[in-house]
Amino acid sequence: MKSSHSQKRKFRYGSFEFEYEFIQQERKTLSLTITPQLKVIVKAPFSADNNRVDQFLKRKWRWLQKQIHFFNKFQIKTYEKEYVSGESIHYLGKQYKLIIKFSHENNIELQKKILLVHTSEAQKKPSHIKKLISDWLNRNMQKVLSERFESIKAKFGYQYKIKLVYKDMKNKWGIFYSKNKIALNPKLIHVSRTCIDYVITHELNHIKNMKHDKKFLHSMNKIMPKWEVIKARLEEQGAQISY
Ligand SMILES: [Zn+2]
Repeated sequence: MKSSHSQKRKFRYGSFEFEYEFIQQERKTLSLTITPQLKVIVKAPFSADNNRVDQFLKRKWRWLQKQIHFFNKFQIKTYEKEYVSGESIHYLGKQYKLIIKFSHENNIELQKKILLVHTSEAQKKPSHIKKLISDWLNRNMQKVLSERFESIKAKFGYQYKIKLVYKDMKNKWGIFYSKNKIALNPKLIHVSRTCIDYVITHELNHIKNMKHDKKFLHSMNKIMPKWEVIKARLEEQGAQISY
């Protein structure tokens, strides 16, 4: 029996193009799968020639395009930042331009459309600027998220202590652990307060409604009537953030 054999290939159809992993194995039909990390895998029998694979992908490309679009919505994109003047930073849903100024003290100031970082000439290295900014973001993140959390908790009428933790996550904005513990993604500091409120409302709603069922939606509509619009905005903003 032949073992399986895999290689990287490219598929082009008009302006649509993608790379996929081509696996040949003991099987009769062709299959196409896409992982949430946007990896495309095509499995084929050893007997399938290039023409058959091509015809198969031409029939499937529209479906694939849809899948890619679907998964893209859930990716919280991250770009490497250089931490130099002129770069942009998203803070509470607004875009700011990073400006670095030399001064004798370390300080960060938020102005209209500008995030002004004061630092000494000796410390102008990007790694130092990065640390200054991330410390500043972190302090504000904890302040804003805990404030919003308490305010929405009150809307639900929960009168006991709920532990809020901050957890770095790739594909989630929040996690409901139990009625006593909820986690929020620190990256929420990059999106607007309304979007933050939506995530918190969703997680706090799970205390009363475990499943995403009718009762859950009913509560969402009551506490945040326009949540669907806000959810779409969050997906958009989440795709733009960089830090
Ligand atoms: Zn949920």
